[in-house]
Amino acid sequence: MQFYSINSPNKFVGLKEAVLRGLAEDKGLYMPEYIPLLPASFYERIDKMTLQEIGFEVLKPFFCPDISENQFADLVTDALNFEIPAVKITDQIHSLELFHGPTCAFKDVGGRFMARVLGQFVKGMDKEINILVATSGDTGSAVANGFYKVPGINVFVLYPKGLVSDVQEKQFTTLGNNITAIEVEGTFDDCQKLVKEAFMDKELNNHLTLTSANSINLARLLPQSVYYYYGYAQMKALGISDVTICVPSGNFGNITAGLIAARMGLPVKEFVAATNLNDIVPKYLETGNYEPRKSVATIANAMDVGDPSNFVRIENLYNHEYQIVKNKLTAYSFSDQEIREIIKEVYSKYNYILDPHGATGYGALKRHLKDGETGLFIETAHPAKFPEVVEPVIGKSVEIPDRLAAFFTGEKCSVEMNVSLESLKNILLGK
Ligand SMILES: *Cc1c(COP(=O)(O)O)cnc(C)c1O
Repeated sequence: MQFYSINSPNKFVGLKEAVLRGLAEDKGLYMPEYIPLLPASFYERIDKMTLQEIGFEVLKPFFCPDISENQFADLVTDALNFEIPAVKITDQIHSLELFHGPTCAFKDVGGRFMARVLGQFVKGMDKEINILVATSGDTGSAVANGFYKVPGINVFVLYPKGLVSDVQEKQFTTLGNNITAIEVEGTFDDCQKLVKEAFMDKELNNHLTLTSANSINLARLLPQSVYYYYGYAQMKALGISDVTICVPSGNFGNITAGLIAARMGLPVKEFVAATNLNDIVPKYLETGNYEPRKSVATIANAMDVGDPSNFVRIENLYNHEYQIVKNKLTAYSFSDQEIREIIKEVYSKYNYILDPHGATGYGALKRHLKDGETGLFIETAHPAKFPEVVEPVIGKSVEIPDRLAAFFTGEKCSVEMNVSLESLKNILLGK
């Protein structure tokens, strides 16, 4: 399989280059040269397959033979080593729980998978790879934990001092080993700007192989298609084969992976996107105008995105035709107040604790489904990651999973710096 940049549809690169670069030289996002169709026989037996078996079949056309099938099977088994259960909340609505991984958020899937793909590539190289990632919280923890102790790879996580939650900070500052946490005296935007400047810096690039691990990287995006299949498989096993899937969305990477799964043949009835007040895509579907804005802060903060970077991939999938995009996608947005009401209602009626992001997913499905229809929403994070929002609403404390609690016993270790490329260079070059 080859990959092209959306900005140069006639120029192709191999898997390794697409993954090591992340973003093409012309600043375009990579897309696969074609979307493979899976055979009918696969769908017939899907409800009897394990998550790992499904993962192997779905991803093989993209990653093999660049990675040998044997190695790839091991890689998938190792990356997808936690449960992703579909849990029934009401007769109509099920929750696909993607928070059973090491950092309790869906980004574990892409983080773990990408780390293992890069781990394969670095084996054939004579130098180490350095991952630079700016985070406002969740990305840093999923990437750091995914790459933890992968030989030949160093990770540098830049985060704004005092602006990420305690749980999030612990998840990437207590690991040590090949993970360096850099606490920046500035905002998330400053961190992101420093990372961009580092990628452009000649001296750094002469000395180090730098790469990014943000959600535009195909090795993070494509593995996310797998759980749409697995969610479908679990519903099919219950005798439900006509399912609408709803995805809480910020950068729209997660839902792009779902739409790619649909293009591969997954028979999903409809896709629904849920957003917080950063409603650029719902507005676009309503008016036909795509108008990015500065993001506003909400209680579903992992979706505070004012210019969703993966939206261009969705347009690309549908030939940039507004009417087709509109037919394929519906979107709803929710205010903080509405999110709190949803969390409260679902807890009091069904005894199920939603996190603020999943709450938008539940809310959008509830708005969208007609009588007799069934839907599945992606529960993108564990509610214990957002106690300051969830606990006052439900009036009790949220039980913290052991794997989350374990981070709190670790010792925080970070390097502090001001917003300066020189300081960052000194840290990266070990000066
Ligand atoms: C990253 C994130 C999202 C948004 O996913 P996108 O792929 O950016 O649309 C939603 N919920 C949580 C908990 C996240 O961490």
